[in-house]
Amino acid sequence: MFEEAYKPPVSDGTGQDRKLLRDAGRLLGEAGWHVKDGKRVNANGEVFEIEFLIADPAMERILSGFVKNLQAIGVQTTIRRIDPGPIRFLVNTHVHPDHTAGNATFAKAGAVLLAREELREGLARQTAADPARLPVITYGMGDPVKFRMNGEVVELIPVRAAHTGGDTMIRFVNADAIMVGDFYRNFGYPFIDTNNGGSLKGALEALELTMKIAGPNTRLIPGHGTFINRTEIVPYRDMILAVQAKVQQLIGQGKTLPEVLAAKVTSPYDAKVPGGLLPAGNAGTSADRFVSMVYAQLKDGH
Ligand SMILES: [Zn+2]
Repeated sequence: MFEEAYKPPVSDGTGQDRKLLRDAGRLLGEAGWHVKDGKRVNANGEVFEIEFLIADPAMERILSGFVKNLQAIGVQTTIRRIDPGPIRFLVNTHVHPDHTAGNATFAKAGAVLLAREELREGLARQTAADPARLPVITYGMGDPVKFRMNGEVVELIPVRAAHTGGDTMIRFVNADAIMVGDFYRNFGYPFIDTNNGGSLKGALEALELTMKIAGPNTRLIPGHGTFINRTEIVPYRDMILAVQAKVQQLIGQGKTLPEVLAAKVTSPYDAKVPGGLLPAGNAGTSADRFVSMVYAQLKDGH
């Protein structure tokens, strides 16, 4: 459908701008998403899907134009109605702003915020921020906190110093899904925030714990990237161990951090890690940030 000759934008009254659709299709194609049997698929055969979750039925009419356009370029698009009831509880998996910045908004809408005590302490250290963002209920390490609601059992599983010092996994027992937070990610290299209490050893332990808790069909949902199952943790852990061993070897040879970074120890994995060579914070690329962390942790004797 995208091979037809260029035509200037035509308004046919359907709300579809053919040129824009064609441009969007071309950009998706350049990004590796091609149309097969009317669907956008990537090289792995994965289908490009978008689901809009709406609480207000009036949104359905507003979204219908988007749905039509997305479907026209092969993106599988659906709308699902969710319970419009107020959100009663909100759990933070860790302290980072991309996971907590909505806290005050949800709290003011009536949600009770829950998190590890360490996470609350981290948030409380920030000055000049809305006090409504602070978790109301906190817990430490030990047995999971359990919620029983709507026929579901939700477990808040505390994880020792991993991505940060206050990580929690959230397990939906009946739905067989676990939100793992950020100690696993498949966009960019592992990020372990040692300034906020994370540790390489703790992250490796958290990966082992996840493989132990998860069943063969459990959906693991990372904070950055795509759903996985537990078998996909194995190559991730092995990659961390291999990089760790390589960096340890270079430290043994007396190499400095710039020398270790220059050795490009992640190169066997770079093609397989989406976003791995993109900038990450002020520490260079995501690969550089990862290797710098491993170096610092090993130097500190962790
Ligand atoms: Zn994070």
